[in-house]
Amino acid sequence: MKVIENLQLIQQEIAEACARSNRNPEDITIVAVTKYVTVERAQEALEAGIRHFGENRDEGLLNKWDVLKDKPTWHFIGTLQSRKVKNIIDKVKYIHSLDRLSLAKEINKRARQPVQCFVQVNVSGEKSKHGLDPEQVKGFVEQLAQFEKIIVAGFMTMAPLTDDEDMLRTCFRKLKDLQTEIQHLDLPHAPCQDLSMGMSNDFKIAIEEGATFVRIGSALVGE
Ligand SMILES: *Cc1c(COP(=O)(O)O)cnc(C)c1O
Repeated sequence: MKVIENLQLIQQEIAEACARSNRNPEDITIVAVTKYVTVERAQEALEAGIRHFGENRDEGLLNKWDVLKDKPTWHFIGTLQSRKVKNIIDKVKYIHSLDRLSLAKEINKRARQPVQCFVQVNVSGEKSKHGLDPEQVKGFVEQLAQFEKIIVAGFMTMAPLTDDEDMLRTCFRKLKDLQTEIQHLDLPHAPCQDLSMGMSNDFKIAIEEGATFVRIGSALVGE
């Protein structure tokens, strides 16, 4: 399938999910996750009109950056080792995987401009998943105030790999509740305007529950 065909289908599904939940499709941004595909395929996605790209490894990001440069807005979506921060920091606008203070400290040290960071939350509690426990989030966000280059854009989660719609919905709803709770604190460094949740198999439900960034790989550019 051409990227443009996949994109049209996904946009249609986003429009339907928005209609079901009284939301405006303009409030949803598709992040094309290009980690499985070649630079050529990423280029095709750019030509199809996609302007947000996500990569989960520094090598992948740098390879594609060499060709596409800053034409798309780049998102780092994967586990980030502190020693890799310097490789990617000038190239990304968003980091979706902030999960510890040592990483925040390194981002703060290396960034020249403020970086939009999502705090990753392990809502489902699966051992295999990264991210903070929901109960740790408030304290963690408060501690981030000391880092002037970190803006808390919101929260990110990866839902369990399941077709159980109720389970997915519960997971996304918990992240939305966390967003609402932190927004009410009115912290200048943590506007929490966004929610990064939803992938190829669950983005429709994520949108119904409040996602503003959906990270779509296989259904959009392929695997
Ligand atoms: C790979 C990946 C995605 C995209 O997954 P698909 O199921 O292919 O859409 C989204 N988010 C993260 C963090 C990923 O690593």
